[in-house]
Amino acid sequence: MKVLVVGNGGREHALAWKIKQSPLLSKLYVAKGNAGIWKIAQKVDINPTDVEKLVDFAKREKINLTVVGPEQPLSEGIVDAFEKAGLKIFGHRKNAAILEASKVFAKNFMKKYNIPTAFYETFDNEDDAIEFIKKMGTPIVIKADGLAAGKGVVIANTEEEAVETVKSMFRGLFGEASKRIVIEEFLEGEEASYIAMVDGENLVPMATSQDHKRVFDGDKGPNTGGMGAYSPTPVITPEIEKQILEKIMYPTLKGMKAEGRPMRGFLYAGLMIGPKGINVLEFNVRMGDPETQPIMRRLRSDLLQHMIDILDGKIEQVTPQWSEDWSIGVVMASKGYPGKYEKGFEITGIDKAEKDPDIVVFHAGTDIKEGKIVTAGGRVLTVTATGKTLLEAKEKVYRAVEKIHFEGAHYRKDIGDKGLKRLHH
Ligand code: ATP
Repeated sequence: MKVLVVGNGGREHALAWKIKQSPLLSKLYVAKGNAGIWKIAQKVDINPTDVEKLVDFAKREKINLTVVGPEQPLSEGIVDAFEKAGLKIFGHRKNAAILEASKVFAKNFMKKYNIPTAFYETFDNEDDAIEFIKKMGTPIVIKADGLAAGKGVVIANTEEEAVETVKSMFRGLFGEASKRIVIEEFLEGEEASYIAMVDGENLVPMATSQDHKRVFDGDKGPNTGGMGAYSPTPVITPEIEKQILEKIMYPTLKGMKAEGRPMRGFLYAGLMIGPKGINVLEFNVRMGDPETQPIMRRLRSDLLQHMIDILDGKIEQVTPQWSEDWSIGVVMASKGYPGKYEKGFEITGIDKAEKDPDIVVFHAGTDIKEGKIVTAGGRVLTVTATGKTLLEAKEKVYRAVEKIHFEGAHYRKDIGDKGLKRLHH
């Protein structure tokens, strides 16, 4: 079977790495990928959002299955286009991808179907938004409606900051994406990620995980695309998981179907678990990055087979097998990220780090220049380890991280600590 993976990040490297192990696979392609993925898949020089060219390529090469990593192509209708051409593809159609692509849609949807989420209102003008901020007080959370690569959310600690944020969003900070905004109550608690494979009515849970959005240790500094993750996360106990399924995941599937927007692909709920219970911060219509990296390290069964079964309407046959090991992924980022950064610095030490069989280094923003692997993005690598305990995984992953070098590299040193704290109390 010929498989095409669409996307350029660490998530796509982890998906490709896992698919590569499948006995069903004959040839793996990636559009466009990165220096890590090109070692295991043939590079296709087409951008992930260049849907027409991807359809042509898939037809010409007789690709049997296409797997979409990022949200952008999904919300631009890649699945609709492939289906129209009679091609198999794993991911949501455009009308379901709106659950991630529009926060206004997602919030109104949750309200309609009684899915727990922070109290909010939506706005399309400054005056009403500012009045609401004055009524609500701070801290308060302001979110651009559309996709903004993880940067469209501001937690304002003062009224002044909140008002400034609203003004700059309406004045085009994120272009079309911030023409409408959501303002919502700030929720205390611990974040966790819950991801499942879904087929419209039913779902198969993936292993639980916890992401780390802020750039610095102790959850300080600005939000990023994610600085590290581990799996499983002890904050999701079996009792909490039951509630997530009953109050969030199934009602979401049912509600989206009732809206004429059936979901098929990965469904990701970003959760806040705290004094106000379990609340949804956001939905994503794809796997998380970096959660995918540690999750794939723990998946024992055949991901490719699972995706095919779901597309063939046989979700009841999908029973993922998970390793008992813990897994951690630590993101190594370019100097300056999530702000401005330079590219093109040579990366060394990956081979040394991977000498330990429990280490796998997934690439994100990397490229090959003059035969050398160089940095080419904000998030550069996700170094993953597995271990019998969370502590063992943590010690291993940081030993590996220390072996890898590029100019200005920075990473968080506390990935896994929230889990360790929970386990040891
Ligand atoms: P992603 O990078 O996953 O696309 P996003 O831009 O869609 O993120 P959200 O997940 O909605 O944005 O918010 C980003 C982060 O902001 C959350 O992970 C969380 O840390 C924080 N956050 C969002 N909403 C709230 C809230 N109501 N209360 C407290 N923190 C929040």
